[in-house]
Amino acid sequence: MSTRRKALKMVSTLPLVGGMLGPSLLTAKVAEEVVLKPVARDFFKELGLRTFINAAGTYTAMTGSLMHKEVTDAISYGATEYVNLDELHDKVGERIAELLECEYATVTSGAFGAMTIGLAGIMCGMDEEKVAQLPDTTGLKDEVIVQKGHSIGYTHALINTGAKIVEIETAKELEKAINDKTAMLWFLNANTENGEIKWEEFIALGKKHNVPTFIDCAADVPPVENLFKFTKLGFDLVCFSGGKGIRGPQSAGLLLGKRKYIEAARLHTPPRGTTIARGMKVNKEEVLGMMVALELYLSRDHDKEWALWESQIKLISDSALSVKGVETEIHVPQHANHVPSLYIRWDEKVVGISTDAMRKKLRDGHPSIETVGNKEQVGITTWMMEPGQERIVAQRVKEVLENV
Ligand SMILES: *Cc1c(COP(=O)(O)O)cnc(C)c1O
Repeated sequence: MSTRRKALKMVSTLPLVGGMLGPSLLTAKVAEEVVLKPVARDFFKELGLRTFINAAGTYTAMTGSLMHKEVTDAISYGATEYVNLDELHDKVGERIAELLECEYATVTSGAFGAMTIGLAGIMCGMDEEKVAQLPDTTGLKDEVIVQKGHSIGYTHALINTGAKIVEIETAKELEKAINDKTAMLWFLNANTENGEIKWEEFIALGKKHNVPTFIDCAADVPPVENLFKFTKLGFDLVCFSGGKGIRGPQSAGLLLGKRKYIEAARLHTPPRGTTIARGMKVNKEEVLGMMVALELYLSRDHDKEWALWESQIKLISDSALSVKGVETEIHVPQHANHVPSLYIRWDEKVVGISTDAMRKKLRDGHPSIETVGNKEQVGITTWMMEPGQERIVAQRVKEVLENV
């Protein structure tokens, strides 16, 4: 095709432009098109919602974390094609298991959903009649043993199956509590220090009595090593949140561990319908988003990221400390939300603002900034911020403390 004909063909395919238009008119038309093209919708603004800088952390109420473009691309891709749901879960389960060097894996509806279906899988095995029977546990093992210091609200994911929680404190009590109704031993990693029994002993007790063990590691990434550590230590099942440190979809999660339990767990989830986890559906978009978020997370430079968080926290700390009467503490929680974190405290008589008022001013300001805290202190992390936002936070913290 000659250059001229190519050019004419191009012109005739331009929207609203006919082949008869002269070159100057054409330019004007194209310019108009560009100008009139609707801009991308600002949905949150349309709905009258304020977005904010997340200086708090991975909180469900604040919508968790932000996904990288590779992840949202995978989600968009998933939304444009049909695929067999079971086959997709099979393939992605195998890939995640390979990446995380464990027997098997599945993408769940959050860590909470992973706990419910993991326990349900242990309780019912591959018996589809039992699967349909839950939450009626007649004839099934339905007791889960939990250390008292680990027995916080998240155990609700376990009682969703119809099972009961049995609280113990010592290894001796745990052994005494085991009976022919014991389905599982459950460990909350975030509360490791609040229980007498630690990982290895907990696993050994399970093995000794032939009772499967499950550890909730929902908020335990970083460090990245935790994705491998607990299956290798010998826990039968391990769960993580998808939308916390891994920055996958906030409503997704990972269930890792023994194939026989995970295959059984999946019998409770869609596409099967008359089951307790029908409402814990994980469709293709989240399955792909979770897989890509995990791949991306594993490939990241974790030391560099850590150094960045440390420097950001120091910047905000230094800024707060420049105000008279203010003290700061930089700390890293041992288990769960294991990232550089800042506490800001002050003498209210010198600084003249309460912690609640300070947090409200940060929230109501421009841009809005969310923090955590109580009467004694304001808490800040930077791992859920976008790069550069730490400078805005440092500035605002100082301004508010100075009562500007
Ligand atoms: C966040 C969290 C959960 C719930 O996880 P989701 O992924 O939101 O379902 C469960 N347990 C602990 C310890 C958590 O921190």
